[in-house]
Amino acid sequence: MGRLQNKVAIVTGGSMGIGEATVRLFVQEGAQVIFCSRNRDAGKELEQDLNQKGNQTKFFQMDVSDVKRWPELVKTASDTFGKLNILVNNAGISYHLNIEDTDLDSWERTIAVNQSAVFYGMKYCMEAMKNNGEMCSIINVSSSYSMIADGEYFAYCATKAAVDNMTKAAAIYCGQKKYRIRVNSVHPGAVITPMAAYSAKQAGISLEEYCAGYLAVTPIGYLGEPNDIAYGIVYLASDESKYVTASHLVIDGGSIAI
Ligand code: NAP
Repeated sequence: MGRLQNKVAIVTGGSMGIGEATVRLFVQEGAQVIFCSRNRDAGKELEQDLNQKGNQTKFFQMDVSDVKRWPELVKTASDTFGKLNILVNNAGISYHLNIEDTDLDSWERTIAVNQSAVFYGMKYCMEAMKNNGEMCSIINVSSSYSMIADGEYFAYCATKAAVDNMTKAAAIYCGQKKYRIRVNSVHPGAVITPMAAYSAKQAGISLEEYCAGYLAVTPIGYLGEPNDIAYGIVYLASDESKYVTASHLVIDGGSIAI
């Protein structure tokens, strides 16, 4: 039996990178998954690939910062699969901009996607989870940059730090209300994904130079792969972690230790 058998999950930003790895592992572990992102082609391609192999996966095209779409997403999950047990707030963006170069647009866009959307996701999914009588789990994908800062990612650091305390406040509230919903965050260090390639481009360096920079501050001696993070998310999503809430799981090759 899979570690997520009989669980229904929503994964945001599921079409590539850490989100795609999470969707694939969730399905492998027996979950029924609805995942969202903005790019329809990438989402449909992944949906088709998984369903051709006999899985039940659904792509939902949506921008997570659009609060009006959240009730629709949650309803689609419940209508399609009958209930909701897991939310992974994974979608995120980053701008390589220090405080002086951060303009209002990039600041507000980062907050909208990385912070406000995490609030919308928790709020609307909690509504569907709290009375279903089953163990539920919310996982917010934060970053090692919520705990240490990088001067070149001002807005990104701000939003990821906010997500940490939103995670704790929601976890405490759910416990106090006796909802069977655990809320935790995951903190990746440098992971090679399309976001890494985009960050390198924004910084005006090659991906090799970008990786070398992070390698120099990663004690374990290699950088992360999407599955390294997805395995941690599977643990927090499964009932194996039934005593874990309000916690921050760091998966970073030791980078915040130095
Ligand atoms: P990625 O490769 O850029 O993938 C991001 C995913 O989110 C894509 O599927 C993208 O699809 C989707 N997305 C972006 N904006 C969205 C929006 N407004 N609405 C809906 N979907 C949206 O990123 P990643 O590296 O896998 O990162 C995933 C998470 O891990 C993020 O929260 C990131 O901050 C965090 N993280 C990553 C690293 C790293 O080194 N990679 C390190 C620490 C933390 P569309 O563009 O089609 O919407």
